[in-house]
Amino acid sequence: MNVPAISPGRIPLAEPLLTGEEAAYLADCIANNWLAAGPYVERFEARVAQAVQVPHAVACASGTAALHVALRVAGIQPGDLVCLPALTFIAPANAVRYLNAEPVLLDVEPARGELDPERLDDFLTERCRPSPGGAVHRETGRTVRAVIAVHLLGHPVDMDPVIAIARRHGLVVIEDAAESLGSRYRGKSTGSLGDIACFSFNGNKIITSAGGGMIVTSRSDWADRARHLVHQARIDATESIHDTVGYNYRLSNPQAAIGLAQIEHLADYLEKKRHIARRYRELLADVPGIELSPAAEWGESNCWLNMIRIDPAAYGMDRRELAHRLAASGIETRPLWQPLVDSPAHAGALHEPAPCARSLQASALCLPSSVGLTESDQSRVGAMIRRRSS
Ligand SMILES: *Cc1c(COP(=O)(O)O)cnc(C)c1O
Repeated sequence: MNVPAISPGRIPLAEPLLTGEEAAYLADCIANNWLAAGPYVERFEARVAQAVQVPHAVACASGTAALHVALRVAGIQPGDLVCLPALTFIAPANAVRYLNAEPVLLDVEPARGELDPERLDDFLTERCRPSPGGAVHRETGRTVRAVIAVHLLGHPVDMDPVIAIARRHGLVVIEDAAESLGSRYRGKSTGSLGDIACFSFNGNKIITSAGGGMIVTSRSDWADRARHLVHQARIDATESIHDTVGYNYRLSNPQAAIGLAQIEHLADYLEKKRHIARRYRELLADVPGIELSPAAEWGESNCWLNMIRIDPAAYGMDRRELAHRLAASGIETRPLWQPLVDSPAHAGALHEPAPCARSLQASALCLPSSVGLTESDQSRVGAMIRRRSS
């Protein structure tokens, strides 16, 4: 059974670390025939709610499913507009589309690629007019109903101004906290700041449930509604009566069992992730043309992924060439996502110019950041980046 998960020499970008009760909890599921149903889903939900310091958590099949349901619970109607950053994993934009609503893609702030409160304010004041139901986009007459703040790579968005702007214009604030479990904004957990938030437990996140997600909110009516929609909106199990079109978005019991075993180690994993981030700062401190993305004074990141920006003129090669060289020695890296303003999947979406999103995507590379990354592997990554051609 002791087959190493990682082939020798290979350093993955972000792999799960399974060193807790995962096997014991799974054995418990099998011994008790707890597959579709069982006690682990509720236990996992309670543990996430506790970690995030929110009263309600609803488990879902994925982070994307969680976003879909959260948007519906937040009252997004077909044709509504939802603001989101132009630089993010595609899931939040897709979730807007699932409801036949429309994303509005806004440029990001230049340092970390996060939702920029100024761009949000500009869009709402310059392109929209106030109305009782929310801001109305002048050009299309559509209502701007919500904003999605994505805590990119784990670092929290500057939420106070985002929330203030959203309140002023009647927008719901949705946090895509998929990457940021354990992060804090001015002392409060990401996921507890807006009206509703989503987490992901995909295999590359800080903890995993072998695929899964969670909706969290302090509104009990929204939590009830989310739970209802996730369970096919069934109101009568005996007669199989459903009161609306719901979804089969439940998390299975064995998945929740893995998630529970994982979140029991969150404090330890956070410490490891933050240690890795500190070490990259040491290892790469004086490399010309390489800069680690800065942390903001308001944020305490979970350090999910460590991102460098490469200045090819100073460093001697661009991010593609560096990624290629690292890959040749078994080191897996990843660029940021294609800016949504350039994505064929969202061609034609309303958007503002996104020079910061494009420039970050052109110059940034994410480095191996697994919780289980060893000191010697990390040293190897550091040495490979330092050994550039000049
Ligand atoms: C991972 C991720 C998601 C989606 O989560 P899945 O569980 O993979 O569906 C959503 N948003 C962001 C920002 C993510 O990184």
